[in-house]
Amino acid sequence: DNIYDVLIIGAGPIGIACGINAKKNNLSHIIIEKGCLVNSLYNYPINMTFFSTSEKLEIEDIPFVTTNPKPKRAEALEYYRRIHNKFSLNTKLFEEVLSCEKKGNIFHVTTTKGSYQAQHVIVATGFYDIPMLLNIPGEDLPKVSHYYNDPHYYAGQNVVVVGASNSSIDAALETYRKGANVTLVIRGTEISPRVKYWVRPDILNRIAEGSITAYFESNLTEIRENEVVIQTKSGEKIIPNDFVLALTGYRPNFELLRRFNISIPEESPMIPHHNPETMETNVEGMYLAGVVCGGLNTHLWFIENSRIHAKIIIDDILRKGARL
Ligand code: FAD
Repeated sequence: DNIYDVLIIGAGPIGIACGINAKKNNLSHIIIEKGCLVNSLYNYPINMTFFSTSEKLEIEDIPFVTTNPKPKRAEALEYYRRIHNKFSLNTKLFEEVLSCEKKGNIFHVTTTKGSYQAQHVIVATGFYDIPMLLNIPGEDLPKVSHYYNDPHYYAGQNVVVVGASNSSIDAALETYRKGANVTLVIRGTEISPRVKYWVRPDILNRIAEGSITAYFESNLTEIRENEVVIQTKSGEKIIPNDFVLALTGYRPNFELLRRFNISIPEESPMIPHHNPETMETNVEGMYLAGVVCGGLNTHLWFIENSRIHAKIIIDDILRKGARL
């Protein structure tokens, strides 16, 4: 059987960076991705603008040329697909990794379509697959979504957006501009200071003029077919509702990582065990790359500061290989 030098789980920007780095160093590789290429970016809101400028999203110093400083989702899809194809990476799409077991020095990886063997495994699975739930009655109604895509869908509808960070604020502003009646439900006392600096004044002004209603220090407590219940500072409010966008963040797939035998502390921020100098986990030969490294702290890593993981990991593999 073919034994790959490196098997990479996830074809996000960082998985691709690992593949290119492996290839440049003559290590055989395979990337396994459960969705389409750069699946997380594909599932971002259709009109999304990155908070990063394009050069900070570049992999392996390959220029990401955009006419505006901050690229849009569609431009990033073009960029990562082009560099992926330029390096003829060996990628299997729409194939999910289910388990990874180490027998002797070899990893045996089972997917929805087959099985593979590798000397090293890089886990670059990101955090966008699992939403943080509100855990309130009605959350499972079909009108509730933890992902937001296209504002047109909400035209003329009563929309509640839960959350105060970038995803929520983008969704609130965009749906408001397509004619939705938008109510924001925010647990804290303010719009997150992390909201894109050019977007923040826009939302503050819309709230101040009353175009968008915002309940601060409030919680959505129940979702019903045609209304929602909000616990506000001044008591309970029941308002008519057609759709709920619960954009309260995402988390890595800890269950999957534990199945790989990676240790994860029980307490928040549940950062999966790894050596920051090599990115190797407690499982020898298994590495973590990209935003998955932050555990629940999903603001710790992004493309700009995690693209370096690819080189750190491949260097470590080469260094250990040279010692054998
Ligand atoms: P991801 O891109 O999430 O890639 C992980 C991949 O692994 C996915 O394609 C997933 O399908 C796949 N996968 C997961 N489990 C399995 C499995 N079991 N088997 C096979 N494949 C699997 N970062 C920035 O730097 N700048 C920004 O402007 C920015 N904007 C963002 C906006 C939004 C709305 C969100 C949600 C995030 C944003 N981020 C931004 C963070 C961004 O998601 C990450 O920086 C980037 O996607 C991380 O790349 P990654 O390769 O680590 O993970």
